[in-house]
Amino acid sequence: MKLAIIGCGYVGLVAGACFAAIGHEVTLVDNDPNKIADLQCGQCPIHEQWLPNLLSMHRSRMTFTGCLEDAVAQSQAVFIAVGTPDDGNGNADLSYVEAVARQVAKALKQYTVIVEKSTVPVQTSAHIRETMLRNGADPTMFDVASNPEFLKEGTAVNDFLYPDRIVIGTSSPRAASVLREIYHPITHNGEVLLIETSVESAELIKHASNAFLAMKISFINAVANICELAGANIDQVVKGIGTDSRIGHQFLKPGIGYGGSCFPKDTKAFYSVAASYGYDFRMLKEVMQLNDDQLTMFLHKICSALWTLRGKKIGVLGMAFKGGTDDTRESPAMAIIERLLKEGCTIKAYDPVAMEKAKQYGLNIIYADSAYHAATGADALLILTDWHEFAELDLQRLHSIMDYPIVVDGRNLYDPQQMEKAGIKYYSVGRP
Ligand code: NAD
Repeated sequence: MKLAIIGCGYVGLVAGACFAAIGHEVTLVDNDPNKIADLQCGQCPIHEQWLPNLLSMHRSRMTFTGCLEDAVAQSQAVFIAVGTPDDGNGNADLSYVEAVARQVAKALKQYTVIVEKSTVPVQTSAHIRETMLRNGADPTMFDVASNPEFLKEGTAVNDFLYPDRIVIGTSSPRAASVLREIYHPITHNGEVLLIETSVESAELIKHASNAFLAMKISFINAVANICELAGANIDQVVKGIGTDSRIGHQFLKPGIGYGGSCFPKDTKAFYSVAASYGYDFRMLKEVMQLNDDQLTMFLHKICSALWTLRGKKIGVLGMAFKGGTDDTRESPAMAIIERLLKEGCTIKAYDPVAMEKAKQYGLNIIYADSAYHAATGADALLILTDWHEFAELDLQRLHSIMDYPIVVDGRNLYDPQQMEKAGIKYYSVGRP
């Protein structure tokens, strides 16, 4: 089928490459000319496992352009995958979605399904429809559907091609059949559940999923804090509760709080959506507060390990919001670095792929070229991102190159006994 994807970010680019991989002809549109130029030259603008491989293998079925009108005119479905960031007041900023809807309305040449891929508040499809009609679209020429995306940065290609489920929300049988056909190569063997819902339910599913995952993280962080106070061990507690099939182990990893471009803004937006319908979703307020507190508690931990902060040399491992990605948006690691700089620390930091994005913050950081370089001469080393390579450091070497062998681990990557054996003073989350 012929598809258009508007927005070549973490979602649009992965979706486009995966749609091409399953046989569709895909036109990818972005209004950032540099991004389009890079993609046209065969460069991949983000770090995502397998994405460069798909982009080069299926290049013949992909077109990259800045011209939305041409892309829409020839497509049977248009996926809107532009950003929906926090507007500064806790609501999703839908101006990018609206701008696309206006442009798409004027470019329709045949019946087209307009698909919300971006994460949007419930009832957004009605606003898209209204905007398109106001901009001259013929109501018989289009339907609006919701097809929320559940990929995780770091494993996005795998998540897209082998998802837990695909959600299609629309009241139009015609739109549903187009979407079923698009996903047929993924769903045909019956292993992937295709869930068909109303458009409102599909929109809500995405916000509710992300808010629930954020809640799981805040919950386990709170339990980890109680473990520290009561002398229990969060690893043992997680094993004990995660083996309950009703609970499961996933997302029960204590740390420095959730971050990234989705959970913080989606939890806030879901709270605002509920409030706009007169429902006070108090639990989400607490989830967000716990997340902020977790970062502050980690800073206290650093402070108690070092006594005073001014003038201390801190090595930092990790700037991305999690391992496997170069995405630093709302990264707790960047927030911790900023707070330590304000306290007068010197920061030498390393991340395997996120340093270019981190440099855009314009902070006064020394960028190290390896984990060991970051640790050399440090008064303490912080582990802030769960990159695999940070879990496999040579501890004897670490001990010998640091001024003081102190490691404060916000990701619980090491066994405390292993650290003790190496002579390193080790602080982690929720463990003795
Ligand atoms: P992103 O910022 O990486 O990408 C958005 C892209 O849209 C950018 O390249 C931008 O230049 C482009 N764009 C903006 N306005 C445009 C316009 N008018 N025309 C053409 N291009 C335009 O964002 P993302 O991380 O890919 O997220 C996109 C949406 O998907 C958001 O709603 C997000 O919440 C949701 N989502 C993200 C993830 C994730 O892990 N990143 C997962 C699921 C859902």
